[in-house]
Amino acid sequence: MSDTTTNSEKLKCKACEKEFLIIPQEQAFYKKKGLPKPENCPDCRRKRRLSLRNERKLHKRKCDKCSKDMISTYSAESPYKVYCQECYWEYLG
Ligand SMILES: [Zn+2]
Ligand SMILES: [Zn+2]
Repeated sequence: MSDTTTNSEKLKCKACEKEFLIIPQEQAFYKKKGLPKPENCPDCRRKRRLSLRNERKLHKRKCDKCSKDMISTYSAESPYKVYCQECYWEYLG
């Protein structure tokens, strides 16, 4: 018997309120990368990724870190911070 289930962290999806588990391997991954734990269940995360990929509206704006001109799916008016590829990778570490 594996104790993967007992050691998994139970989180509630902020979008659909479904409970989902973060297995220890995932917890270690997020910790290592310094990333926050996901707020959405795998289903919602997949849907979100798909909708982002289908997003055809692109905006010219500046990177919030280095001010370099870039293309983003978020407009300059959006409250989201948008980083260019280099800053994004730097941010991910
Ligand atoms: Zn969900
Ligand atoms: Zn940048």
